[in-house]
Amino acid sequence: MQVYADNAATTKLSETALQAMMPYLTDTFGNASSLYSLGQDAHHGVQASRAAVAAVLGADTNEIYFTSGGSEADNWAIKGVAELMAKKGKKHIITSAFEHHAVLHTVKKLEEQGFRITYLPVYENGIVKVEDVKNAICEDTALVTIMYANNEIGTIQPVAEIGAVCHEKGVLFHTDAVQAVGHVAIDVKAQNIDLMSMSAHKFHGPKGIGALYCKKGIRLPNLIEGGAQERGRRAGTEAVYAMAGMAAALTEANDALAQNTAKLTALRDRLIDGLLKVESSRLNGDRQNRLPGNVNISFEGVEGESLLLYLDMKGISASSGSACTSGSLDPSHVLLAIGLPHEVAHGSLRLSLCESNTEEEIDYIISCVPEIIERLRNMSPLWERIQKERGNL
Ligand SMILES: *Cc1c(COP(=O)(O)O)cnc(C)c1O
Repeated sequence: MQVYADNAATTKLSETALQAMMPYLTDTFGNASSLYSLGQDAHHGVQASRAAVAAVLGADTNEIYFTSGGSEADNWAIKGVAELMAKKGKKHIITSAFEHHAVLHTVKKLEEQGFRITYLPVYENGIVKVEDVKNAICEDTALVTIMYANNEIGTIQPVAEIGAVCHEKGVLFHTDAVQAVGHVAIDVKAQNIDLMSMSAHKFHGPKGIGALYCKKGIRLPNLIEGGAQERGRRAGTEAVYAMAGMAAALTEANDALAQNTAKLTALRDRLIDGLLKVESSRLNGDRQNRLPGNVNISFEGVEGESLLLYLDMKGISASSGSACTSGSLDPSHVLLAIGLPHEVAHGSLRLSLCESNTEEEIDYIISCVPEIIERLRNMSPLWERIQKERGNL
């Protein structure tokens, strides 16, 4: 059996999205800036896609800027606001310890340029405290950037409350919502969000396209100089096919949101309950406030990378820690941030589901994992040590 359970890394393009892209990859190939009909048809494709994305998120059409994906949107929002606020003498940024590297490495860069960065703790449950955000805001705070949902442990942050605190104190609020858009209901206005990053390939759209929501009135500096595309802020001939694919995928996800959430939550909980039957295992991140498709479990005395290889031999695609850091020996910064000891963090498994996963697939995973864990533990010096310490040997 082949089971794809790594939807937090990327998702399969939906058939609806593919069909929405086809015209712009074939007959409607014009440049959206050209004045003849072929160009205007492309231009309509751009604007209809922008309007569709905005509609799902409760934004105005001209508050959506297409980008190449989530990393670009994060970089643009954070560096842009930093540049804007530095002119007012504000050089302090608040973020959390378990952001995606697109955020962490960006604030690190700003730190080298003289910004002061506060990394808020996320505690054992993987959730930022609103009170901590409030207490961290200073006179010179330029930006608060806290992710909507974590990509490894799936925990959902109190975004609306964080936004309210920021607005009370007159500070801009950005959220990396790459894992949340298309998976949970979002209303940027009601949730007090000023800037928000998203990426199409995380909700069954194509790779290489995403967007930044930037609230009207924020004069974000241009990302790319050139033509008048994206209101002159990000020049370059539009990839209309990708925009159309993103809009179709997001609309499809949003239309099926309630149904997908119910199905996924049931599959997720079945998987969590099944895997927690393994001795010395633990669920990482809050059980309630988590993405409907996220399962992240640590198995003591096991090495995550080996677990992935054995799962792959069984046809199961999963992840251990973040895909971006696999290949490095450091355990995931997310798992360390929620207080896991290094050796436990190393033995973690992320299974991220989507609505096309089935109960049979979940049961297949539940049947494969225990025997793999047992095999790995049987040859693990670490497990032997743990057992000795517990007096089991
Ligand atoms: C995937 C991801 C990104 C990066 O998005 P890309 O479109 O791949 O650049 C950023 N943040 C989070 C939380 C992600 O999961």
